[in-house]
Amino acid sequence: MSSKPAAESVIKPQQEKSAPVQEVSTWQNFKRLMRYSRAYKTGFIVAIFGMLGYAGIDTLFFSQLQPLIDDGLTGTNPNVMKWAPIFVVVCFIIRGICHFLGNYCLAWVGNNVVTDIRQSLFEHIMALPVAFHDTESTGTLISKLTFDTEQVLQATSKALLTLVQQGAMVIGFLAVMFYNSWQLSAIFLLITPIIALIVTFVSRRFRKVSKSIQNAMGEVTSAAEQTFNGHKVVLTFDGQQRESARFSQINKHNRQQRMKMVATKSASVPIIQIIASFALAFVLYVANLDSMRETLSPGVFITVITCMTMLLRPLKLLTTVNSDFQNGMAACVSIFAVLDQDKEKDTGIIPITKAQGKLTFKNVNFAYPGNEHNTLCDLNITANVGETIALVGRSGSGKSTTSSLLLRFYDATSGELLVDDHNIVDYQLKDLRKQFAYVSQQVVLFNDSLAKNIAYGKPEATQEEIIAAAKKAHVLEFADNLPQGLATNIGDNGALLSGGQRQRVAIARALLCDAPFLILDEATSALDTESERHIQDALIELQKNRTCIVIAHRLSTIENADKIIVMEQGKIIEQGDHKTLLKKEGAYAQLHRFQFGSAVE
Ligand code: ADP
Repeated sequence: MSSKPAAESVIKPQQEKSAPVQEVSTWQNFKRLMRYSRAYKTGFIVAIFGMLGYAGIDTLFFSQLQPLIDDGLTGTNPNVMKWAPIFVVVCFIIRGICHFLGNYCLAWVGNNVVTDIRQSLFEHIMALPVAFHDTESTGTLISKLTFDTEQVLQATSKALLTLVQQGAMVIGFLAVMFYNSWQLSAIFLLITPIIALIVTFVSRRFRKVSKSIQNAMGEVTSAAEQTFNGHKVVLTFDGQQRESARFSQINKHNRQQRMKMVATKSASVPIIQIIASFALAFVLYVANLDSMRETLSPGVFITVITCMTMLLRPLKLLTTVNSDFQNGMAACVSIFAVLDQDKEKDTGIIPITKAQGKLTFKNVNFAYPGNEHNTLCDLNITANVGETIALVGRSGSGKSTTSSLLLRFYDATSGELLVDDHNIVDYQLKDLRKQFAYVSQQVVLFNDSLAKNIAYGKPEATQEEIIAAAKKAHVLEFADNLPQGLATNIGDNGALLSGGQRQRVAIARALLCDAPFLILDEATSALDTESERHIQDALIELQKNRTCIVIAHRLSTIENADKIIVMEQGKIIEQGDHKTLLKKEGAYAQLHRFQFGSAVE
């Protein structure tokens, strides 16, 4: 559902350039897909030759039935029978080589194309703005990356193999039939329009169903991912049954869609064969007429009937090729819709290696995309080099949003954010982000060694630098107890580490980056005192010589801040240092009383 706006925004730029079409046609999508195979042209050409060769040999083989029967078996030309065994073996050797080349080369091209598409999709998704990721579920994106790209592989190899090879075979067999007896062959052709009609109907249905299968598959991954991610919440709130019921519904829907596809596929083949059998029966009847009997030799008759029977298989395969192709095209549409999304824009031109550390918000207003109301209203904040600014306020008052603007995850709707007196949009985006170290309560760790996780923001760091950062952040204390110290792999999302340890890794990571600004989203919950003390020590170390924006949840940690900014519904309602604000007896004093009245210090 959420991919709809994506598809719409894709079409717009194309509309400006080309014909005023509402929807990108299957043909255009196919052409776009084919562009990916350009790099593998040679393989593609060899594959086509292999497929055509395979069909050619089959045609040649059956065209020799008539001389074999009329000249060879009846004994008028003994040479025919002498060469026949050699002919058969040579035919099958060439056929085998063609078969291998056709299949192998096509699969080579197809797999390369899919790898390329998957890579560019992955890179594109990473480069999309935060606003896109806010609206798109991770499950849907993963499904596009895995399932949809696999579907494209079907389109590029299997469908094309059938189309070219079986299509050529149909043409070849028809040619042999007409060459032998055009009258009998003409009868067979009478049924072609009927078959074509059925094929059209079936393919239309395939297209519709395969689209719903893709959506249904996305729903399955998305539902599963959501539940597995929130596994502990599900357990805590006894939600297994509810989740299982919800999943069962989605799962059932998926099955229904698949069964619809199977029903259409299974019905289409026998229907076509039954129609063909009528044609065959009619041919047998006509062949028995006196006028025909005189013109038909046994060889001609057997050849025509054999070719007709042989035609059924390619015809059958050709009806299913469309379903594969349509599957692939539906997947292409879904992939291209993401690829056509605009990447995060970077219009900044000023390079910056290390900022001095001054930060200013000037009349900043901000509304989330699609939101009518401003989440931040008229923010004016100044942080001088080395100062610590604390943002406090109730949950939802806009503290995290304020920090998101600094990293340019979103751009201010109006007003300016200045770093060292330059608007941040003028800086090159990569450079700008390097100026900030971000430590949040949700520490993201990668399935890699502890050292690599610490060096994530500075991969070129030396072992000594990593150790120094780890020491300052009190990481070494627990790293020494791990089997391989800093080289220990910490598992998926750092599963081996405790909450407090994870935060210390995040602090070490930030220390190593040595950025002039620090954004610190403090933990809401208190950790055990031992961890707490280490973290506080590490944080004090981290805040030294940096301009800091602290999103504070517990007021005890920010009493020494140079400026405390109290926010409510996106507005600054008070600002000043701890003592001044307490004296003022306003919102801050009230928050302070509330926390220290109820929380244990
Ligand atoms: P805080 O950090 O003070 O708890 P936030 O900055 O997270 O507050 O949120 C401020 C407001 O913006 C809230 O009303 C929240 O619902 C809204 N909000 C936060 N993130 C998004 C988003 N990605 N899209 C739309 N609205 C959001």
